[in-house]
Amino acid sequence: MTAVAILGAAGRMGRTLVELVAAADDLTLAAATVRSDSGWIGHDAGELAGCGRLDVALTGDPAGAAAAAEVLIDFTLPAALEGNLAAAVAAGTPVVIGTTGVDATGEQAIHRASAQVPLVYAANYSSGVTLLRRLVQTAAAALGDDYDVEITEAHHRYKRDAPSGTARALGESVARGRGVRLEDHAIQAREGIVGERPAGAIGFQALRGGDIVGEHTVMLAGDGERLELTHRASSRATFARGALRAARWAAERPAGLYDMNDVLGLNDRAPD
Ligand code: NAD
Repeated sequence: MTAVAILGAAGRMGRTLVELVAAADDLTLAAATVRSDSGWIGHDAGELAGCGRLDVALTGDPAGAAAAAEVLIDFTLPAALEGNLAAAVAAGTPVVIGTTGVDATGEQAIHRASAQVPLVYAANYSSGVTLLRRLVQTAAAALGDDYDVEITEAHHRYKRDAPSGTARALGESVARGRGVRLEDHAIQAREGIVGERPAGAIGFQALRGGDIVGEHTVMLAGDGERLELTHRASSRATFARGALRAARWAAERPAGLYDMNDVLGLNDRAPD
């Protein structure tokens, strides 16, 4: 049995994670956190998740959660990230980060923490998107700059960051395939007299509406043809299952920064 703590248990992802941990034979819920000013503090995590009583009281205390668990899973918001990382490092507890929209300072904190504990950080925990990134890198390398790349994403109306972390990650895959830096070529949503499309640009567009769980398309448009690679998530359980797979994996690792390629065994790292 691996003891898991869910940070952000009141969120859409957090509730799904609590439900799946409760249903898993090899995992047990050690702790679950909500915001320290949440009205849910003291209530039962299972009741909040809608899966019946689990006898785990919700707290606003990531340090206590890190001390109680063998692995932490953080699907909160960027403002909570540094406190959650500090709690993981202080307790020496492996951590899986699902939060997106993390800025450069947050990413530095992730790198620092990964020197102390095993840390998995992925913009998208679905196996399909992990594989899509590989396919996109291969397509961008094979087709080169003659094919214009535009990345579109669609998400539910509540999503706060844009473009999605997954869209950015797909842009990184394009850049890697082309052997360039994404920040030198990214163009975010266009408006007005923007002029001709610069050669080699990697464009991003974000759509928001309804209950869309997450859709991403990478279009590679050449003269006379275009290729579109699309992933559609129909349930957020796919991200939660991937995050739980990452948690089981991280619990057995040495300190270091890992991603879903490592978890799925797609990276050629030296065995440790
Ligand atoms: P959400 O807004 O429903 O949930 C976030 C929750 O975190 C809220 O309940 C909020 O109150 C809580 N929170 C904020 N600060 C906190 C703190 N200090 N301690 C505990 N809880 C705190 O959002 P969501 O749809 O559940 O997504 C959560 C995050 O995960 C977002 O950043 C989202 O972009 C990301 N996400 C990542 C993936 C992935 O595969 N990596 C998939 C889906 C969502």
